[in-house]
Amino acid sequence: MFIGHFGLGMAAKKYMPEVSLGVLFLSVQLVDLLWPFFLLMGLEVVRIEPGYTATNPLNMVHYPITHSLLGGLLWSIAFGGIYYLIKRSKKTAYFLAGGVISHWFLDLLMHRPDLAIYPGGAKYGFGMWDSLPFTMAVEFLLFAGGIYFYLKSTKANDKAGVWSFWSLVVFLSVTWLSSLFGPPPPSADTLAYSALSMWLLILWGFGIDKHRSPVELNNESGTGQISI
Ligand SMILES: [Zn+2]
Repeated sequence: MFIGHFGLGMAAKKYMPEVSLGVLFLSVQLVDLLWPFFLLMGLEVVRIEPGYTATNPLNMVHYPITHSLLGGLLWSIAFGGIYYLIKRSKKTAYFLAGGVISHWFLDLLMHRPDLAIYPGGAKYGFGMWDSLPFTMAVEFLLFAGGIYFYLKSTKANDKAGVWSFWSLVVFLSVTWLSSLFGPPPPSADTLAYSALSMWLLILWGFGIDKHRSPVELNNESGTGQISI
C-alpha cells in the first residue's frame, strides 16, 4: 500500500489535532521509511520482477525487521514510547503506536503472503495487489477519506497552508499513478535509494502543519465546515 497509509495519517489529525501531520506521517509510514536502510544494509531483500503482481513488480523476499507483525509491534512500542517520553501524553502515544502497527494490517490487505507474524514464522497477505481495480479503489478511498478528514479538522492560516497541502496531494497522486503504470525501477538498489526520499514527505507534513491550525482551537462556533 502506498497513498492509503498517508490517507490514514491525514485522517488521524481528527483524533490528534495537537499532533503535527509530520509526526502522523512518521507513525503510519515508519516501517516503510526504515525499510530502505535495511535493504541497503542487506538485512532485508526485495527483488524487482516485472509482472510479479498485477500492480507492481516488487517481490518482497525477506523483510522481517520492518514488516513482520512482531517487528511492527516493537517499532510501534518504540515510537509510542519515545513520544510519551517527550510529550507525556499517554493517550496520544497509544494512538501513534496504533498508527505504526496499522501499516502492517493495511499492507496485509494488499501484499502477496509475504508478511510474517514473526521473523521466520508463517507469512500472510490477502493479495489485493493482484487486482488493479481493487488496489486503486482501496488506496483511493483511504487517501480521499484522509484528505476529507484533514481538511475538516484544520484550516489554512495563510496561502502556504493551502498550496503546500494540495501540492502534496498532487505529488502523492502522481507518484502513486506512476508506480502503477510507469516503468519498474531498474534495480533494487535504485528502489531503496528512491525510497529514502520518502523522508522528505515527513518534512513536507511538518511544513503543511505549520501553516494550518486545528479547527477546534480556532473555530468556536464549530460549524464543521470544510475549509481548503
Ligand atoms: Zn509497507
